[in-house]
Amino acid sequence: MNIVVVGSSNTDMIVKTARIPKPGETVIGGTFSMAAGGKGANQAVAAARLGGKVTFVARVGSDLFGTQALVGFKADKINVKFVLRDKKAASGVALIFVDAVGENSIAVASGANAALSAADIRKTRSAIASSDVLLMQLETPLETVEAAAEIAGRNHIPVILNPAPAQPLPETLLNKISVLTPNEHEAELLTGIAVQSEEDAARAADALMAKGVGTVLITLGARGTYVHAKEFRGLIQGYAVTAVDTTAAGDVFNGAFAVAFAEKRPLREAVRFANAAAALSVTTIGAQPSAPNRREVEAFQRRHP
Ligand code: ADP
Repeated sequence: MNIVVVGSSNTDMIVKTARIPKPGETVIGGTFSMAAGGKGANQAVAAARLGGKVTFVARVGSDLFGTQALVGFKADKINVKFVLRDKKAASGVALIFVDAVGENSIAVASGANAALSAADIRKTRSAIASSDVLLMQLETPLETVEAAAEIAGRNHIPVILNPAPAQPLPETLLNKISVLTPNEHEAELLTGIAVQSEEDAARAADALMAKGVGTVLITLGARGTYVHAKEFRGLIQGYAVTAVDTTAAGDVFNGAFAVAFAEKRPLREAVRFANAAAALSVTTIGAQPSAPNRREVEAFQRRHP
C-alpha cells in the first residue's frame, strides 16, 4: 500500500521531570534523552513499521540532525527521494518536557520544515498521483498542505489531514479532506465547540462535516476516538494501558489509521487498529522509538479483544 506523507521532521530533546516547570521556574532532577520526531516523520515511521510502503516528503537541514534523520528513515525502509536537504535553514528541533504522569509540554523551532514549499510539492506530483492515500499535518506551511491536497484531489487520491498543531483552516482545504483527525483541542479551535463529552465531540464532528470533510475522527486520548462517517457515528473505545509518555500518540494513531485505510479495511476496524497502535505507543518513551510494528499491534489486539 503506497502512502505519501508530507510533513515535518524534527529532533526531539526530551527532559523527563517530576513536573513541567512554570515560567521563571527551574525544576531539577530530570533525565535527558534525544529521539527522532516531528509529526510528519513520526507518522511516516509509524505507517512504515505497520506495513505501509511510505514515501516521505520533507525538508531537513544540511546538519548532523538532518543526516541522522535520513539514517533513521532508511532504517525504517521509507523512500527518502523527496526528503530535501536545505542549504540555509537548520533541521527542526523540538524541546519537550514530560512529567511524572506522562503529560507533555513542547516548543518547536521549525527550521527547514518552514521552507518546504508548494514548488517542492509540485515536484512530487507523480508520487502523490500513484499513491493509495496522502497523509499530512500542519507543521509545514499551509500553502504546502494546500498544494498537496490540490494534487491529490485532481488525481482522486484520498487525503487524511491531522490538523495539528491547531490552526484555523479555510473551507477550500477542508472540503478536499477525506478524513480529518483532530484531537479535542484542535476540534475546538476548528469549530468553536469545547470538546469534553462524547456529545460535544458529536456536535464538533457535525460542524466539520458541514464544512465538507468526508469523515471526522476526533481522538479523545485514553477514551478513544469519536467517529463521524456516513456509515457509522459513535465512540470507539480506547485500550486501557499505563501511560508513560503520550508525546506521539496522535502521530501513531494517524500513521496506523493511514495504513488500515489504504488497505481498505472497514472504518471501525481501521480505527480500532489505530487506537491499539497508539495505546501501545504511550507505554514507552519517545516519539519514533515508541511506534510499534505490526506484529506487536496484532498481538496486543489479540490480548485485548
Ligand atoms: P494527541 O496525541 O494528538 O493529543 P490523543 O491524546 O487524542 O491525541 O491520542 C490519540 C489516540 O491515542 C487516542 O485516540 C487513543 O486511541 C490513543 N491514546 C492516547 N492516550 C492514551 C492513553 N493514555 N491510553 C490509551 N490510549 C491512548
